[in-house]
Amino acid sequence: MRLIFLGPPGAGKGTLASRLKQRYSLAHISSGDMLRETVKSNTPLGLKAKEFMDRGELVPDELVIQIVLDRIRRPDCRSGFILDGFPRTSLQAERLEEALERKNMEIDLVVYFQTTTETVVGRLSGRLICSVCGYNYHIKNIPPKQEGICDHCGGQLYQRQDDNEQTIKTRLAVYQKQTGGLIDYYRRKGILRTVSGDVDVEAGLEVLEGLFHREGLVDD
Ligand code: AMP
Repeated sequence: MRLIFLGPPGAGKGTLASRLKQRYSLAHISSGDMLRETVKSNTPLGLKAKEFMDRGELVPDELVIQIVLDRIRRPDCRSGFILDGFPRTSLQAERLEEALERKNMEIDLVVYFQTTTETVVGRLSGRLICSVCGYNYHIKNIPPKQEGICDHCGGQLYQRQDDNEQTIKTRLAVYQKQTGGLIDYYRRKGILRTVSGDVDVEAGLEVLEGLFHREGLVDD
């Protein structure tokens, strides 16, 4: 199955995608994670992306489209993928559709995580991420067993630089202005399904599994 997870930062897209990826052998394609890797490389491309990311603004389309479309061509995407954080503009959505069409593929479902500002601000400001395996935690909601250490791989947990109050505000405003329109875009195509982004991880997984069954995307 080929899915897009759509919704504001902090709606639970990444956390749920990382839990679903093993269960259904899907590639988890997070444009944010790929951009953070690019930033680490200290290349001119990485430095350019960093400027936008630090401000909470979107990285220019041409840069992110290239990175994501190259990733979709990799063999692990043949059994399906979840796009998390991409597309975020109508140009990205169009380029994705064209690239998939050329391969006789299409997106099966766009899952829109509808949530409140209160939930996302609370989640982003308490979010902790493993520096080794990328697993997400939350200071209150999903605390690690040992403070600062990943339960799964023992890696150090860190807080993302853009998970601070000011940048969170910008990211939410940018989402409303530049990404919000994609909800209608996919609704018109008949592939949008709305779920609540306000529930905890286990409840969210249950809702998604029910949805995949109803849509005939997975066997019983
Ligand atoms: P995320 O990890 O999805 O919250 O993304 C972190 C940051 O990476 C965003 O605030 C943007 O600066 C950048 N970014 C991630 N995905 C995209 C995208 N599809 N288009 C443009 N910028 C993106």
